[in-house]
Amino acid sequence: MSKTDNSLETLLTQAGHFIDPQTGAVVPPIHPSTTYARDGRYELQGFEYSRDANPTGRRVEEVLAMLEGAEDALVFGSGLAGVSTFFETVRTGERVVAPRVMYHGAADWLRRLAERRGLEVTFFDATERAALERAVQANETAVVWIEPSVNPTWDVIDVRAASKAAHAAGAVLAVDATVTPAVTLRALDLGADIVFHSGTKYLAGHSDVTAGVLATRAVDARWEEIRHARTLMGGVLGPFESWLLLRGMRTLHVRYERQAANAMAIARHFEHHPRLEAVLYPGLESHSGHETAARQMEGGFGAMLSLLIAGNAEDAKRVATRTRLFVPATSLGGVESLIEHRATVEGPNSIVPANLLRISVGIERVDELIADLEQALA
Ligand SMILES: *Cc1c(COP(=O)(O)O)cnc(C)c1O
Repeated sequence: MSKTDNSLETLLTQAGHFIDPQTGAVVPPIHPSTTYARDGRYELQGFEYSRDANPTGRRVEEVLAMLEGAEDALVFGSGLAGVSTFFETVRTGERVVAPRVMYHGAADWLRRLAERRGLEVTFFDATERAALERAVQANETAVVWIEPSVNPTWDVIDVRAASKAAHAAGAVLAVDATVTPAVTLRALDLGADIVFHSGTKYLAGHSDVTAGVLATRAVDARWEEIRHARTLMGGVLGPFESWLLLRGMRTLHVRYERQAANAMAIARHFEHHPRLEAVLYPGLESHSGHETAARQMEGGFGAMLSLLIAGNAEDAKRVATRTRLFVPATSLGGVESLIEHRATVEGPNSIVPANLLRISVGIERVDELIADLEQALA
């Protein structure tokens, strides 16, 4: 894997300084072929069959590895395909430690897996400083899975402290950095062994491709198992989606900077709003995780925030139906701003507060976004 001496911004913009050796094209070609011919000595020439890997996917994996400072990266057909492939490497009887409030799809999957495969899962309270360390020490732990900023309350987990606790117990630290991409938080540098992204979100950035990413500090036995599991479970990302992901990543740094600036302005504007109980955003000094976030998020506090409406679930949902610019839809990380009543989306087992509205801030004009929320709350 080639290294880069340039900044992440330059790396991303030029997609790893790609120039096609055959044509001079500055945009990588899409290789839709499912199968690859052997040479005159009947040797493979780098690729064999598209369920293992394809050249377009390999290109985006190389850029992702450079972006993360990883030894290698793999792309998957969705974020959850990456999550489930990663957890294939955890054996029956082994323990996973994860935050109680986290991305509900991954938590849901972990609970089902725990039952069927006989895994032990310990959920800890991310609002409590020592809870992770206690959970890891209480029992032998194989994997610690965290989000630096948990979805959708945005409580902050100290990645460096999590890494120390995990490694002291002989566990692997995996970080779901979907809402904190490497342009702000460098998970591997902070001590993670594996970093995960739903590429569907900020990396692709335009709400038009579903993708997942795993990147590793070291190509070790676990990583080889993950690579093998991707081939056997069939969760590889297709060539066209790989191409879209790389195309989106070229503007990640610009989008993220604007989105984070917009989110900060919105959080500050609504912090003491009479129709709100609270604004949950790590960029606010009043947020319990602000100091940790300031230490580990070098490129801004991100663009995800939640509003606790002064009222009940119905009041919150009413606000989400009155916005004219914020689109009432799930997902996050696209250029357009979204608002959602998270408890409805997560379903009857949700532990998210009933009055919580999750907001993914886009790159629109921030004064117009603020005016839209003002009229929806009025
Ligand atoms: C969306 C998301 C996922 C799952 O990714 P998909 O691409 O939807 O499968 C995992 N973690 C977080 C934090 C997410 O936002």
